[in-house]
Amino acid sequence: MKNTNKISILNLEKPVLIAGPCSAETEIQVMQTAKQIAERFPNAIFRAGVWKPRTRPNAFEGVGEPALKWLQRAKEETGLPVSTEVATAEHVELALKYGVDLLWVGARSTVNPFSVQEIANALRGVDIPVLIKNPVHPDLQLWVGAVERIAGAGVKEIGLIHRGFHSPTTSAFRNKPTWELAIEMKRQFPDLPMICDPSHICGNTELIPLVAQKALDLDMSGLMLETHIHPDLAWSDAKQQVTPEHLQQIIGNLKARTAEVADETGKNALSELRENINKLDTDLLQMLSERMQVARKIGEFKKNNGVTVLQVARWDEVLNTRISAGEMLGLGKDFVTRLYSLIHRESIDIQNQLMNS
Ligand code: PEP
Ligand code: MN
Repeated sequence: MKNTNKISILNLEKPVLIAGPCSAETEIQVMQTAKQIAERFPNAIFRAGVWKPRTRPNAFEGVGEPALKWLQRAKEETGLPVSTEVATAEHVELALKYGVDLLWVGARSTVNPFSVQEIANALRGVDIPVLIKNPVHPDLQLWVGAVERIAGAGVKEIGLIHRGFHSPTTSAFRNKPTWELAIEMKRQFPDLPMICDPSHICGNTELIPLVAQKALDLDMSGLMLETHIHPDLAWSDAKQQVTPEHLQQIIGNLKARTAEVADETGKNALSELRENINKLDTDLLQMLSERMQVARKIGEFKKNNGVTVLQVARWDEVLNTRISAGEMLGLGKDFVTRLYSLIHRESIDIQNQLMNS
């Protein structure tokens, strides 16, 4: 089976599945993994890292050009389109020479505008889909900038990959999902498909189903999942790779969702609930506005009486009583704490401005 059609990430049936090893290691590993994926998912896109950005030197840094021949063979024999990460102009040139169908910019490149621009320049006049991973650091502007640079080079089909963000605090994840950043990126680029990469978010295989389902629930366009015939023996990212069989089980257990409600009754029920939310939000904003007006009056009083803006004991009392009240109303402690921190900060800002006016 030979695949000669150009792939279009915008026209692939959702959810898109990109599966394959973290790294192309040997011809046998690439061929066996690709075949086992193709048997189970004939519409998948095969992935394999050919050049690997490793944090420390002397780790396995990818096979390089010879691995591109294996990808070419995998594509010819399975019919799956193939994809790889590019980080330099030379990578782009070689990937194109060997007929790679889709490229992605890695998280360590997205943080570096020089790298992204070099890749963009190499892509000028080339018709190939490019996926852009979020930067390692939780900085949305770097991600936006990378999209602008690649789009600026005339690349027509751009997609995004959400692979989680580095965080200084330890968590169950290798890279914190920080879903709100992915959602904001989707808001800013509603026409770009976003693929979730649970493998790099989780760093292990146990949490993958949970993250993959959450991605589908957030209406992401597909999943990138690192898949290896012998994950334990993988030369990179061994802990987070699944076997093709395990992949089938994970995908089989996912619940598909659609952004649109199909039937009229469902549509009406949803719009009624949304109307309800709209009304509550109007009331909420009205009350917040009134609360800030009272905060302003308190600020005037403090100014006229030479009292400090911040009184820690009062803030502590407000926070604790609101947390207890919230808990009785079924609102989580974390949520109420974050909400009141925001409200309190705004009140303090209003009063500070008054003091200095
Ligand atoms: C990869 O996909 O193998 C990879 C290196 O990912 P990231 O750029 O997300 O770290
Ligand atoms: Mn990897």
